[in-house]
Amino acid sequence: MQQINSVEDFNRKIKNVLITKEEIDAAIVEAAKKIDAIYDGRPILLVSVLKGAFVFMADLCRAVTVPCEIGFMCAKSYYAGTTSTGKVAITMDLDRDVSGYHLVIVEDIIDTGRTLKEVVGILKERNPLSLHVVTLLDKPSRRVVDFDADITLFTIPDAFVIGYGLDCDELFRNLPYIAEYNTET
Ligand code: 5GP
Repeated sequence: MQQINSVEDFNRKIKNVLITKEEIDAAIVEAAKKIDAIYDGRPILLVSVLKGAFVFMADLCRAVTVPCEIGFMCAKSYYAGTTSTGKVAITMDLDRDVSGYHLVIVEDIIDTGRTLKEVVGILKERNPLSLHVVTLLDKPSRRVVDFDADITLFTIPDAFVIGYGLDCDELFRNLPYIAEYNTET
């Protein structure tokens, strides 16, 4: 458990900025254009996998121009510190029947791939009209199951990252950029 009792403790945990706010903003414009092109005016349901994707979802939904509804579900990957244990649970489900919707799953980061493989498998069984996955970050070197997003904004090396919705023990989600977490202090 990290000991954070002051702004100094908090700042010490931010090792270096990997992706700036400006780079994120520019990549979201491009991702939104791809989504607009795929759906070509057809309405979509953006599904955010909480909690980490909530900031990305908020910006992405304002960048697309196709009619869009939003939905939330919560899938928890169990972590021991900064290491995935491989266990995934759906802790909060969508509030509607998704058959009849074009679904776009909005994820913060794909690491081992287990969370999204599970979530996509569950949602496909509910017969949506179509399903695409957009992820802000991808760490392909960490994959343990075969899974790729349709749209990836940034591919990053094997580091534990925080900010722009991503946490470490629930802190750092409010940083406007993506940073590497300092495990050494
Ligand atoms: P996966 O199931 O692909 O291993 O993990 C996906 C989930 O693990 C993400 O939605 C995220 O909650 C968490 N995760 C994976 N890598 C990182 C990371 O570098 N930083 C943070 N904050 N969370 C991560």
